[in-house]
Amino acid sequence: MSNKKTNEKLKGSLFIISGPSGAGKGTIYNRILELKPEMKKSVSVTTRAPRPGEIEGVHYYFRTLEQYQEMIAGGEFLETAQVYKNCYGTPKAPVFRMLDEGCDVLFEIDTLGVKQVKARYPEAVAIFIMPPSFEILEQRLRGRGTESEESIQRRLSAAKSELMKYNLFDYIVFNDDIDKATADVVSIIDAEKRRIKNNLGEIQLILDSKKQ
Ligand code: 5GP
Repeated sequence: MSNKKTNEKLKGSLFIISGPSGAGKGTIYNRILELKPEMKKSVSVTTRAPRPGEIEGVHYYFRTLEQYQEMIAGGEFLETAQVYKNCYGTPKAPVFRMLDEGCDVLFEIDTLGVKQVKARYPEAVAIFIMPPSFEILEQRLRGRGTESEESIQRRLSAAKSELMKYNLFDYIVFNDDIDKATADVVSIIDAEKRRIKNNLGEIQLILDSKKQ
């Protein structure tokens, strides 16, 4: 058996959750991390100010725009995007370290970021979270009670252009019920982990043990 095959077993998988604002992707992301504590999250860097209760290095690394630009110049990001006036990026080194250590990694990023990750790491599994209709998305955005009419319209039109990029994604989960949508994402992760290409080392080990 080649070393390459043995090592393939050890490499983790990268899962991305994305979708429009109001789709419930943040809630699903947090639930997956609770249900699958063995999965690692990537802590993003952002130029936005911390919200009450957010902790540096846990929720985000909070940086000034100048510091952020230095990180871009240093090639430190796997992907970076501007989302509603603020910059967000995924630091590259920790992600590849976790994958190399055999850990499965979960991202929650916007669709611009998904495109960049897929270009650099095509094995990433991208899951699009979407309410079952734009009407329901609109109701949810209005129901938050925090968005201005202009912000609702901007987010709805962003959602349409995001959905039009469906080709970037491997899976879509319609979130009309948060428990069911979370279960769907769990099924996707579990099925991906059972793919032949993710188990070559394991298969080879069994085949080799049979020879003895
Ligand atoms: P928030 O400011 O509410 O925490 O996040 C706003 C948006 O930024 C969310 O849609 C979230 O998915 C996205 N986001 C968070 N971290 C990253 C990141 O590292 N890269 C990209 N591209 N988007 C991110």
